[in-house]
Amino acid sequence: MTLLAVADAQAAILERMTTLASESIDLNEALGRVLAAPMYADRDAPPFANSAMDGYAVLVTDLNNASADNSVALQIIERVAAGAVPQHQLRAGSAIRIMTGAQVPANAEAVVPFEETDEGQANAQTEVVRMFQPTQHGNNIRPAGEDMQAGSLVLAAGQMLNAGSIGVLATIGAAQVPVFRQPRVAIIATGDELVDVGVEPKAGQIRNSNGYANAAQVREAGAIPIMLPIVPDNADALRATLAQAVAQVDVLLTSGGVSVGDYDLVKQILNEVGKLEFWRVRMRPGKPLAFGSINGKPIFGLPGNPVSAMVCFELFVRPALRKIGGYQQLLRPSVWAKLLDADLESNERRQYLRVIVKSSATGLTAELTGAQGSGLVSSMASANGLLIVPEAGHGINRGAMAEVVLFGELH
Ligand code: AMP
Ligand code: MG
Repeated sequence: MTLLAVADAQAAILERMTTLASESIDLNEALGRVLAAPMYADRDAPPFANSAMDGYAVLVTDLNNASADNSVALQIIERVAAGAVPQHQLRAGSAIRIMTGAQVPANAEAVVPFEETDEGQANAQTEVVRMFQPTQHGNNIRPAGEDMQAGSLVLAAGQMLNAGSIGVLATIGAAQVPVFRQPRVAIIATGDELVDVGVEPKAGQIRNSNGYANAAQVREAGAIPIMLPIVPDNADALRATLAQAVAQVDVLLTSGGVSVGDYDLVKQILNEVGKLEFWRVRMRPGKPLAFGSINGKPIFGLPGNPVSAMVCFELFVRPALRKIGGYQQLLRPSVWAKLLDADLESNERRQYLRVIVKSSATGLTAELTGAQGSGLVSSMASANGLLIVPEAGHGINRGAMAEVVLFGELH
């Protein structure tokens, strides 16, 4: 069987994924969800020209000759609080006392902040305010539509909503938000040696860590994990679990049982109950990857080794879930970082090494987490990136720049 390049495997998987339908949810539930339709401003934001300061709306020409020695007194003809609408226009020699966010009179040319007047000496009831310097057209006035113009596109479909987008949606009056449905993903750990996390392992047994780690990755990908009980290396048990799961979810995920051991059943059963494509991907860790469908639902058979399972998830399952979940941006960003460790040799397979990426004044650095065995799940806990050593190249020397897929926060 030929070895597939990582990018080719990713492309082949993505091609087969279809995006779920949308649903409408309350704005307050929308953080982190993916917008399913483009959103347009229903009106200008701000909707009217308003004051950026607590101060006085004025005509610029009234203050042309104002100075510290030659102050100009203006007649206060109205007071406007935020939420109120001014009833007067300015005329020569007048000022309108106005609060931040209040609509400015239609002919106001500038707002002079309290701090630049004799406001400190006068009280709020005074009839006259003194100004000590000229001002300019537009000073401290926020024009209508400065932020968003009526009818303009403010958010594109396929973007994940962050706190700022929630603010935008509230501004345009979107009490209900169209978002893509989140994919539901069955998590099926296979292996006779596995026990659940609350169970004391007996001789020869280990705890099921993949199920929990993959469920967490599913959440990070914006999808909903459905944890199923551990499946022993038994064909009937696997068949039964798959049949039950496929009815409840959009995607199935197994771990373990996809290599060539005596009890590796996943491929065989997938072939029997669905459509299987089995790939050897030119990568390390995690060469074997079973991928296919049951009743039209995608299924991913991840390798059992914890690091392989998580790295394969990152590279193949995550982008697939994001496409199903409607994201425009499918892949993690990659950055370039200076390798701090020893020289890394290339291999005929592309290597994804667990690294800690740090930011410094001179740029990003990457340091290996330590030993890189595919069973060492602790390396995934400390890493925030996967450093790529391209296949069949010259390797990467210490001090050289390397590409790193960033999956955690920068240190
Ligand atoms: P397998 O692919 O089933 O041959 O498993 C490869 C290695 O991964 C073996 O050492 C398994 O014990 C281990 N392994 C498989 N599934 C899990 C799991 N859910 N959690 C932790 N380790 C696992
Ligand atoms: Mg196994």
